Amino acid sequence: MRYLILSDIHSNLEALEAVLTDSAGLYQQVVCLGDIVGYGANPNEVTAWVRQNCEAVIRGNHDRACTGMSDLRFFNPVAKAAAEWTRTKLEPDHLIYLSGLPRGPFDVADCRLVHGSPLDEDTYVISIPDAEEQLQSLERGLIFFGHTHIQGGFGRRGSGDEVEGLSPYELVIAAEEDALLVNPGSVGQPRDNDWHAAYAIYDAGTRQIEFRRCPYDVDAAQRKIVEAGLPLALAERLGLGL
Ligand code: ZN
Repeated sequence: MRYLILSDIHSNLEALEAVLTDSAGLYQQVVCLGDIVGYGANPNEVTAWVRQNCEAVIRGNHDRACTGMSDLRFFNPVAKAAAEWTRTKLEPDHLIYLSGLPRGPFDVADCRLVHGSPLDEDTYVISIPDAEEQLQSLERGLIFFGHTHIQGGFGRRGSGDEVEGLSPYELVIAAEEDALLVNPGSVGQPRDNDWHAAYAIYDAGTRQIEFRRCPYDVDAAQRKIVEAGLPLALAERLGLGL
């Protein structure tokens, strides 16, 4: 079975559509690591697609924020404005769907899905020390995570005890004895200095993970954000991949 691994779509319909065109024929099932909504201008269209097409979905912090399940005090002003806007725009049944999403970890086939980290859905795993902390209690296994919007990840390979970074430019083969934390990157708001939409394909048969990027109509996504009255910074960052 081959999986399309999506994370952090963030209501960006243009990026989602480009990923689907780019990945056509490469997978049989879709999984989503949360943050379906928040930031972008198409929360209803993106949620409708996820509801219809994803085999497994877990919630992200923005899905909680946009459905009124978390305190917005800890959000920065831009994220807060986007969450409040999204809440007013979401159709009632999409609101119910998003607020009922399960918290990770969620197991699919031989891998585990989390939004932030295996230990906490809101934790950012950015550095090797962050990954070491998360992998301490994991002897082996393959975990897909999102939240940072940075494609790549971390791993302890074979019998070694050193955690190293995984390059998003190389194919990853998950060996039986490896402990891996793999981030497909963000579909709708990449923050790794590359504006291209990010995702991954996981082949559970060969245990290969391919990181992929594709161009999308950034201008259209930006225009919609501006027209919706969402903060300008949200449009600007899409063009920079920040
Ligand atoms: Zn996110």
